[in-house]
Amino acid sequence: MDYSPKTSTLTHLECPECRREFDADVLQSICHRCNSPLLARYDLDAVSQYLTPGDVHTRPPGLWRWSEILPLRQLGCKVTLGEGDTPIFSLPRLGKYVGISNLFVKDESRNPTGTFKARGLSVAVSRALELGVNTFVIPTAGNAGAALAAYAARAGCRAHVFMPRQSDRSNQAEVRLAGANLVLVEGSISEAAIEARSAAAAHSDSDKQDINSNWFDMSTFKEPYRLEGKKTMGLEIAECFGWQLPDVIVYPTGGGTGLVGMWKAFGELFAMGWINERFPRMVAVQTEACPPIVRAFQENRDRVNIHQDAQTIANGLRVPEPFADRLILDTIYASQGYALAVSDEQIKQASKQLAQLEGILAAFEGAATLAALMLLRDQGRVKDKDKVLLMNTGSGLKTIL
Ligand SMILES: *Cc1c(COP(=O)(O)O)cnc(C)c1O
Ligand SMILES: [Zn+2]
Repeated sequence: MDYSPKTSTLTHLECPECRREFDADVLQSICHRCNSPLLARYDLDAVSQYLTPGDVHTRPPGLWRWSEILPLRQLGCKVTLGEGDTPIFSLPRLGKYVGISNLFVKDESRNPTGTFKARGLSVAVSRALELGVNTFVIPTAGNAGAALAAYAARAGCRAHVFMPRQSDRSNQAEVRLAGANLVLVEGSISEAAIEARSAAAAHSDSDKQDINSNWFDMSTFKEPYRLEGKKTMGLEIAECFGWQLPDVIVYPTGGGTGLVGMWKAFGELFAMGWINERFPRMVAVQTEACPPIVRAFQENRDRVNIHQDAQTIANGLRVPEPFADRLILDTIYASQGYALAVSDEQIKQASKQLAQLEGILAAFEGAATLAALMLLRDQGRVKDKDKVLLMNTGSGLKTIL
């Protein structure tokens, strides 16, 4: 098949469990047979024939530079606020302090709404709009709700956001300000998901052909395209490091879209022949309050168990039952990575160090990656000469007061 430049080469969606294929040009959620997320697949052979790193590099900045391997058919339909192409800084002072000579951070704090959630929601809202949606619903620990509210406003759509009452006040204020419907829920994102689902069910009418009357569920991994937006972090990392990936990437893991998305990006770039087979070890960081992935990793399982849930200052990491547990754990195992938990006290300490040694005002989730790195260094799991990239997923300004 021939594609014109900048057109999506999206071919189909695939269930990673049963390998069944799904039509990508109608609205899809999950593989109901396997209760699994769906993954977007592209004609990567074709892309590798006509697209070069130079082509992508010279386009205007932002994640939409990667349109051939993003799902939107009509680029003119994109809903954008300037997301993506965040900087990667070296951290010489902090590196010396931790004992890592090649330490870097990818600073996602300057995305719209102050977190990398903007990437996923820009792409997912754009694609859903293209497929006819005009009303969204999302359960969120906080930041995804703020991002959805912004992109829905930008697109002229309605959004219903279900958020724990204990979530950060800034997110609640952002959702209200953007004119979305905010519903505060007792408990965690798990309880928010239950309420969001029943509200959505009450508002959908399967008899009606008109999908516009339905609320479209934007929950993490319950539709295929937030992952595609988050994937662009991996594409940018590869490009920024001159197509030689770092040895270790440390990622604060909640629902896992960033971790799974970066790994998907590396696989696609490898299939296109743009990178070699030296992939990073992917390290998932969680909090001691809510460590389902860490527990599963310690017991060498590929699914999470009955959850533990307690409050933490890192609200984005309070995800007791990640729906994509298998994809997250597969990524950690396949990369020969690791999973570990840190305490709120360690996170606070690390956020001070980032601010004082490098001037970086990190989200608590982002600071958790530094706290984890110090433990990994002490345990000898990361060595002085490893090239290590920390993911600062959001801005510390959202929670500074
Ligand atoms: C949501 C969030 C995370 C966790 O991301 P997942 O893709 O759900 O694992 C980490 N940091 C921040 C700031 C977040 O908002
Ligand atoms: Zn399936």
